[in-house]
Amino acid sequence: IYDNIALAEMPEGLQGQGYFATSLEKTIALARKNSIWPLPFATSCCGIEFMATMGSHYDLSRFGSERLGFTPRQCDLLMVMGTIAKKMAPVLRQVYLQMAEPRWVLAVGACASSGGIFDTYSVLQGIDQVIPVDVYVPGCPPRPEAILDGFMRIQELVGNESLRRRNSDHYKALLGSYGIQ
Ligand code: SF4
Repeated sequence: IYDNIALAEMPEGLQGQGYFATSLEKTIALARKNSIWPLPFATSCCGIEFMATMGSHYDLSRFGSERLGFTPRQCDLLMVMGTIAKKMAPVLRQVYLQMAEPRWVLAVGACASSGGIFDTYSVLQGIDQVIPVDVYVPGCPPRPEAILDGFMRIQELVGNESLRRRNSDHYKALLGSYGIQ
């Protein structure tokens, strides 16, 4: 897994001629953060910025994430981009529930983060009303640089996450607050 990873990114450990040793936890975190499989949940204009983010100029592939998934069971990062109507909320929640742990959520743009300019009866005022969100990207729409910045913050979280977090009382309580077992 080290082939394509810059030395500066290597976790703390012992290095020598032809070998590198570190903890299992750090090795798994390093692999996870450099092989995130995003699931794009794009409903409107922010999705267009995501298309630019995937294009050769910005190139999300550089982060090990060119492999987008359209089945929740194979993805570990849900990227929500666009206005989420209240009728769409149960679908979004269902998609999140179908993802296996560990899973992360990136809210891209003002609409996904807070409802944006659509302060109206039919629009969800932020996806964190139905699912937990790890990182919010501001903007209407956010430029691809901002989306990449949000993605790198997710990588930071993934790279520093303890293997025990998903079994912690804190995490279970967080899911419990969303009515998720
Ligand atoms: Fe469109 Fe702005 Fe909402 Fe993004 S945040 S979906 S650009 S209205």
